[in-house]
Amino acid sequence: MTEIFDTIICGGSLAGSAAAVTLARQGRSVLVLDKAEFPRTKLCGGLLTWKTVRLLDHLFGETPQTLGEQGIVKYVSDRYAIRSLTSTLAEGTVSYPFHLTDRAELDNRLLHHARQAGAHVREGEEAIRCNPESGEVFLKDGRVVRGKYVIGADGAHSTVRASFPEVNLRAMRRFTAATIEVKIPAAALPEPVDRPILYIGFLDAGYGWVFPNGDKLLVGICGLRRKDTHFAKLFRTYLNVLRVDPAALTHQRGHPLPYGSFLHDPVHANALLAGDAGGYVEPLFGEGIFYALCTGMYAGRAVAHALGNDTAPGPEYLRNLHRTILPELNGSNTLRWVLFRAMKLFGCGAISRFVNLGAGPLGDMVHGKRSYHWLKRKDWGF
Ligand SMILES: Cc1cc2nc3c(=O)[nH]c(=O)nc-3n(C[C@H](O)[C@H](O)[C@H](O)COP(=O)(O)OP(=O)(O)OC[C@H]3O[C@@H](n4cnc5c(N)ncnc54)[C@H](O)[C@@H]3O)c2cc1C
Repeated sequence: MTEIFDTIICGGSLAGSAAAVTLARQGRSVLVLDKAEFPRTKLCGGLLTWKTVRLLDHLFGETPQTLGEQGIVKYVSDRYAIRSLTSTLAEGTVSYPFHLTDRAELDNRLLHHARQAGAHVREGEEAIRCNPESGEVFLKDGRVVRGKYVIGADGAHSTVRASFPEVNLRAMRRFTAATIEVKIPAAALPEPVDRPILYIGFLDAGYGWVFPNGDKLLVGICGLRRKDTHFAKLFRTYLNVLRVDPAALTHQRGHPLPYGSFLHDPVHANALLAGDAGGYVEPLFGEGIFYALCTGMYAGRAVAHALGNDTAPGPEYLRNLHRTILPELNGSNTLRWVLFRAMKLFGCGAISRFVNLGAGPLGDMVHGKRSYHWLKRKDWGF
């Protein structure tokens, strides 16, 4: 027998939990499906900006203090550095600290909030197909569940998105970055790392990072795929330049990162896409945590409103995306191409001059106090 809910949410990570708490708190029946069992490993730098911290408080009542007490915030720093593989290009402080988290634990905690809000959460259940017209979601074990609406919060490889006939998957793939990341003991690097560090200039459209994370470091690279780029080889060179102790390298993994592939119309029939499934990642620094939470919240709100008023959720969802999210992603996308082009023409010194000239406002832009659209003051409305 097909089980029926107001909404099925595929994916119980950030976007899924944000949508689930929003809907469940309004008394809607919600089923969250995730193919993984939580806490599960999630490849991510785990860096939270000011706007993310505010949104986590708004949606889940979690603050840096509560997250710290649970061991989810692993490191806090208001400093940063941008380096080439040979020299420091810019370094300084920002007006609000970066919070570096353990993603496995963060996701687990937010899913717990979804459950507490009243959502039905089923782990280890994989959706293999979705029918956006009927709201049916087909599970790997042969069962079928149905929602009046379906929210695809199932990440970069979204199964829900695959059922949208108008989405150009080839175009999305073109602007999906490859990433590789390792978690190593902090002592595996010859010098202590006391701030997030970005490494630029060795990838055509991408960068590397070293983020402190408690007694560990997260070391990774991401970049758009080019015919002549061999990522695994590049990563080895990068680790050699950083002088990472090879004995510390155990498990090296990769995951796709939407990097300029965001959709302008992530709605089809009774299904909506949020988070990585819609490509909502800021395309210069690859910030996706905030955008997953925010689009999940918007999708949840739009569906709750539609259920209460017998209307379609699409228009409200698109209005919010176009009002607050897409101007940021478009602005960041333009800036990224200007910076990558400048770097190609004039070398890394161009980035050094750019960052050092506008350090304060640029830091506020990364945090979300200012917009990627002409550095205007940003009002997120939460
Ligand atoms: C290497 C790397 C580093 C990053 N670093 C940062 C960072 O420091 N800061 C930042 O802000 N962003 C970062 N990001 C981006 C950020 O991790 C993502 O944007 C964010 O996780 C997106 O959240 P989501 O909820 O949309 O999807 P995800 O977190 O990818 O979750 C999708 C969920 O859906 C489930 N799922 C998938 N398919 C199915 C299915 N068929 N059926 C059921 N369940 C399914 C998965 O198990 C998963 O739990 C990074 C990304 C990568 C790859």
